[in-house]
Amino acid sequence: MRKQWVLGNWKMNGSSQSNRHLIDGLLAGLDGQNSSGIGVCTPSVYLSQVGERLIGSPIALGAQDVSEHSEGAYTGEVSAAMVADCGCGLALVGHSERRTLHGETSELVARKFRQALSNRLMPVLCVGETLEQREDGVTYKVIAEQLDAVFDCCDANELALSVIAYEPVWAIGTGKTASTEQAQEVHEFIRKRLAEKSQLLAEKVPVLYGGSVKPDNAKELFSMPDIDGGLIGGASLDAESFLAIYNSTEVIG
Ligand code: PEP
Repeated sequence: MRKQWVLGNWKMNGSSQSNRHLIDGLLAGLDGQNSSGIGVCTPSVYLSQVGERLIGSPIALGAQDVSEHSEGAYTGEVSAAMVADCGCGLALVGHSERRTLHGETSELVARKFRQALSNRLMPVLCVGETLEQREDGVTYKVIAEQLDAVFDCCDANELALSVIAYEPVWAIGTGKTASTEQAQEVHEFIRKRLAEKSQLLAEKVPVLYGGSVKPDNAKELFSMPDIDGGLIGGASLDAESFLAIYNSTEVIG
């Protein structure tokens, strides 16, 4: 059985005060009935603050990005070792906002993925096509290229420690969600690519969906056979909405 995850991506939002309020709301609302994983990826400057409040809680702490370098003269960069030192257990790599707004290539994302692994962080590899690519009929080609850059530099044992998030760029922050069928089709494609590497990998690696997931569409999306939870942007900034989405995962055991 694959582990399900619901991860919040706070992006560049928050303040010391609002973070406290949001985390307190999440901790107060968790009822201990759900065995799926839950985590929040905060801006790096708040990792220590949020990490301290999460000690002893089931909520995992995540970074939104890590540097491709391990240390040195890279002004403004934050290394995987640093975020691990702040208490992170996971890190997003290759979010579409990094790929499009910061020109990150799949090869660079693969180097970040390796940095995360080397520092015992669970890498969450984000992949997804733009609207133009979908309309041009190259969705699978784009996803395959984004996956292969990482698959080519890791063995199956390493990939087994990761999570993949399929996030169609046209659905992120736009209020447009991929239909459950559209999402399932791509998740199935990702699962097949994993199986080409190893069948065990296909059975083990969670593939999350991201893109305007809200409490009212989460259950339907998460009920699809190859969708193992979600990466949540906007709705993760509100404790009630984020918990409602988390509670839409299947309760196991
Ligand atoms: C995201 O940023 O990863 C995301 C899925 O955002 P939203 O839920 O706001 O579409």
